[in-house]
Amino acid sequence: MSISFNKPYLTGDELEFISDAHTRGQLAGDGWYTHKCQEWMQKISGSSSALLTHSCTAALEMAGLLLNLKEGDEIIMPSYTFVSTANAYVLQGAVPVFVDIREDTLNMDEKLIENAISDKTRAILPVHYAGVACEMNSVLDIASSFGLYVIEDAAQAVKSCYRGQALGGIGDLGAYSFHETKNVISGEGGGLLINNPDFKERAEILREKGTNRSGFKRGLVDKYTWVDKGSSYLPGELVAAFLYDQTQHVQKITERRLEIWNLYHRSFRDLENREVLKRPYVPEYCEHNGHMYYILLRDKDSRDNLLSTLKEKSIQTVFHYIPLHSAPAGLQYSRSVGDLSITDSTSDRILRLPMHMELSDEDASTVVEAITAWAQAS
Ligand SMILES: *Cc1c(COP(=O)(O)O)cnc(C)c1O
Repeated sequence: MSISFNKPYLTGDELEFISDAHTRGQLAGDGWYTHKCQEWMQKISGSSSALLTHSCTAALEMAGLLLNLKEGDEIIMPSYTFVSTANAYVLQGAVPVFVDIREDTLNMDEKLIENAISDKTRAILPVHYAGVACEMNSVLDIASSFGLYVIEDAAQAVKSCYRGQALGGIGDLGAYSFHETKNVISGEGGGLLINNPDFKERAEILREKGTNRSGFKRGLVDKYTWVDKGSSYLPGELVAAFLYDQTQHVQKITERRLEIWNLYHRSFRDLENREVLKRPYVPEYCEHNGHMYYILLRDKDSRDNLLSTLKEKSIQTVFHYIPLHSAPAGLQYSRSVGDLSITDSTSDRILRLPMHMELSDEDASTVVEAITAWAQAS
């Protein structure tokens, strides 16, 4: 039997809701299910405004458009992140400025941000890796003393908190992902949280091809016309209908992932004491969502060796980001501050373990036993 790394999970009524969306007579975006999903996003994030988008990438792009980025504007972010965090802004002529991550949480090191600020800096972009919060009080303090915006990449952080506040709902803008690899899914999907009310009206226009259609539908304007820049960033109702059922089960999803996460975490204590591996660290100020369980091996050779040993036993594990600062497009479009050695070393040593709703306790124990056996043999 094989154990897969991820498996898209059905919460039960998705297909029925898709059929219902058709019965309701609207398959284009911004219908009944889109509004239900948006209400849910507002509720879980505490944000006063949320827009469903077709991906987290789209939400990140919208954040850049809202900031009116100019050629050469800079955004400070980690290099240890998904391509979209940087690419969304390169597309608009901005320059990602990379700083190193913290060794414990693998999140952007807040102590390195200030040194990376220049007169071109417009925003700080914390990425909450594995659903574990960045040190947001420091980020917000720096942002307010230098007059910068904060955009949270909360793609992995649905239902995670920082000192009791939902991630994605803390900065000026926040982005969620509902990609099939995340906790709550719709295949492709995302959401923009607009926490700074200054951006609310324009966000609706940008998402509706630069038109004031949303205001028109709500009776706020009497003509629907082209008023600004924009694009089509909204998903159709079929996607929203699928997502809606998932949102209704977020509690169950989060609890189950945390159970698996805790099982792994307990089981690897010994191997950590023996310095075979390092376990994830969750600061006491963070409530996480069990998005990911990873281990850090001693070096790249042992990581690669363990990965192939597990593969022989039909256990699928994966490494993660190739640091963006050393990727071909990163070399061309971005700059780095400092040596990013923790980023490089993390990328070499990380191994992510199977984590999904259909993974049983026995499966997780099989993974643990295989890793323990490997540690004994090597
Ligand atoms: C998944 C992910 C994204 C992109 O999400 P999409 O919905 O696929 O566009 C961006 N940033 C991070 C940190 C992610 O994990």
